Amino acid sequence: MSFQSLGLSQPLLKAISKKGYTTPSPIQLKAIPPVLDGNDVLASAQTGTGKTAGFTLPLLHILSENPKKKFRPIRALILTPTRELAAQVYTNVKEYSEFLNLRSAVIFGGVNQKPQIATIRKGVDVLVATPGRLLDLINQNELSIKRVEIFVLDEADRMLDMGFLRDIERVMKFMPDKRQNLMFSATFSKDIKKLANGILNNPIQVEA
Ligand code: AMP
Repeated sequence: MSFQSLGLSQPLLKAISKKGYTTPSPIQLKAIPPVLDGNDVLASAQTGTGKTAGFTLPLLHILSENPKKKFRPIRALILTPTRELAAQVYTNVKEYSEFLNLRSAVIFGGVNQKPQIATIRKGVDVLVATPGRLLDLINQNELSIKRVEIFVLDEADRMLDMGFLRDIERVMKFMPDKRQNLMFSATFSKDIKKLANGILNNPIQVEA
């Protein structure tokens, strides 16, 4: 099974081959088709399995197939527990979208918010964020997630461990009800299943 046979577009295939990937990893093989089909997906995957490309590639494919010409609302939101992970995911998004007409940005706490606000004002299709800074900027009316089409919750178990449950619930209230949801977690406790039930609609479950 190749990346091409998964149905990803040429600009994405070009970025993938630039990265030097030859074959999709198991989680990519399992997650990419249901995401491309528009399903909510609950994925069990550890770091190092290629999970980031597992959600980023189909997400970029979907957004680029339906370009927004006039204005650029945030169409995909990827929530991560830490700034290190946010920065890492953002690097991936940048690399995979190199040959697409999509803009991306990353926001996290602990640094000056002004440059982040300036970037967002220019228009961003894909936003990678940690929950605290995201809520700060929403509450300051500096960004809106009311047009989000695809929501990704990455490392959901770490999110809960770090006490982000309330923040995640707050974030959800600012998004439209009709959207595609992807949730990735290394472990599946009762709390994670409960969170998944609150976020995902009829999810397809995949495991690396
Ligand atoms: P992740 O689990 O998303 O943090 O990815 C772990 C590492 O695997 C990263 O360095 C990726 O660049 C790399 N990677 C992801 N997908 C593939 C693939 N299909 N083939 C080779 N390496 C990959």
